[in-house]
Amino acid sequence: MGSEKQHLRDLPSVDRVLRETPHLSGHWGHERVAAAIRSTLEEVRTNKDEFAASGKSELLDQVVSMVTSRLEQEAGSSLVSVFNLTGTVLHTNLGRASLPQAALDRVRAVAGTPVNLEYNLDTGKRGDRDDHVENLICELCGVEAATVVNNNAAAVLLVLNTLARGLEVPVSRGELVEIGGSFRIPEIMQGSGCILVEVGTTNRTHLRDYRNAINDRTALLLKVHASNYEIRGFIHSVAETDLAELAHQHGLPLFIDLGSGNLVDFPAFNLPDEPTVAQTLKYGADVVSFSGDKLLGGPQCGIIAGKRELITRMKNNPLKRALRVDKMTLAALSEVLRLYQNPAQLAQELPTLKALTRSPDDIRVQAERLAPVIAEVLTPRYEVSVSECHSQVGSGALPVDTLASYGLRISAVDGSDEAIRLLAESMRRLPVPVIGRINKGAYFLDLRCLDREEDFVAQLGTLGSE
Ligand SMILES: *Cc1c(COP(=O)(O)O)cnc(C)c1O
Repeated sequence: MGSEKQHLRDLPSVDRVLRETPHLSGHWGHERVAAAIRSTLEEVRTNKDEFAASGKSELLDQVVSMVTSRLEQEAGSSLVSVFNLTGTVLHTNLGRASLPQAALDRVRAVAGTPVNLEYNLDTGKRGDRDDHVENLICELCGVEAATVVNNNAAAVLLVLNTLARGLEVPVSRGELVEIGGSFRIPEIMQGSGCILVEVGTTNRTHLRDYRNAINDRTALLLKVHASNYEIRGFIHSVAETDLAELAHQHGLPLFIDLGSGNLVDFPAFNLPDEPTVAQTLKYGADVVSFSGDKLLGGPQCGIIAGKRELITRMKNNPLKRALRVDKMTLAALSEVLRLYQNPAQLAQELPTLKALTRSPDDIRVQAERLAPVIAEVLTPRYEVSVSECHSQVGSGALPVDTLASYGLRISAVDGSDEAIRLLAESMRRLPVPVIGRINKGAYFLDLRCLDREEDFVAQLGTLGSE
């Protein structure tokens, strides 16, 4: 009791710590330092047992060092680079696609200076920000016009709000999908102001279902790519060509929400077949929309491509202003699209395609190289082995197709879940956090996306020291 009182009396006052730390106030400002000192003293009081052995001056030193790290921690960005070893290449929670070098350079070049974003350098008049990417999109997708918004959810919202506000849109019950919890077709349709007319059933929808739903309040026909799931068995959906023909017989446009939307022939890269944006448009769609940061491998954005007359109406919709992208997104997107002009180089240059096309052999060799390195750090508590696994494309692209891969399976010698949980936690606390997955009582690192191997290895030492 007496020693506790003694100890609390030894705790320096806020003023005392402030006098000790003029360099901190000079750097961070008096108010912030004072606040950090108050929080630190509070922390010491709460955990006073941990400081019981410290003498007065030692306690002061401890407080100063705690205040310093608190200030540094508060100042650090919470958004940091991580290693995505989850096995999901396009991981929405981990920011989806990583940009290619050319895009990074372009972003850097435009971010810190004024740019001709909406300024035509030839005429000296106002320009359209879409001009920086529209021709490229048209060339790569074989369309007349295109516009870019914040993401594909915004793209769907803008298309429907422009073409169908206050009007009816028939959609197959098999396509009323939810993507990642926050994007649900029925809700986005409601938000856009159009009226959803459900047609067909969950597993089977026929052309006649659409035909019966069309009336003079119908605005367009909508087809949604069932991105993140597949129904098997007794199923039927209407082919794009038939849907396009029906829409056009009634003078209606066909809008297809492609979700991922890829611009290259996937089988040529040994990847599962998925129609390209250009193919979908050839089937007769008048407008398509797709994400910039899914299979395309670019920045977060939503691309709307199609008939000029329809795209012009979208550009003139006041909502476009609220959904538009900034100069950095356009800079990154234009460079990514330029890479698509030379498909032969694409798998080397575009990180997403590079990761998706990595050969299992290449990944296995890497796993065999890294297993002993990690084993050395984690011995004797854990055992490391090289193991086959399957990566996923992610972000709802190709939901049922997986890619053969290799990884490191790390199991706890004592077999406890607690040891695995602790390992996952210390991996997340590394300077560049490592995100793996826990699977069947083991910690698993799929190495498909490990491209900064030296950096990964260099920081493993800190893991052992915990
Ligand atoms: C992913 C996806 C969306 C949403 O796209 P974001 O770019 O994430 O906004 C919409 N529709 C489909 C079919 C999708 O797969």
